[in-house]
Amino acid sequence: MLFKLLLLGGLVTVVYYTFFNKKSLPNPSKDNKKPQEAMIACAKCGTYADIKETFIRDGYYYCSRECMEA
Ligand SMILES: [Zn+2]
Repeated sequence: MLFKLLLLGGLVTVVYYTFFNKKSLPNPSKDNKKPQEAMIACAKCGTYADIKETFIRDGYYYCSRECMEA
């Protein structure tokens, strides 16, 4: 009887970890995509800049306001 309970407990643990691992797997892959710092070349001078710090005009990326208005 005790052996059966242990076997059942082990089975529950295996099932739990299987579901836990499946649920936890997609999250790190999503997190890995987000923090990637995209570098983009300036349409005017070709300097690579962080996409968050670039200026966008007419679908083109510029490294600075000077490049964008030139
Ligand atoms: Zn530039």
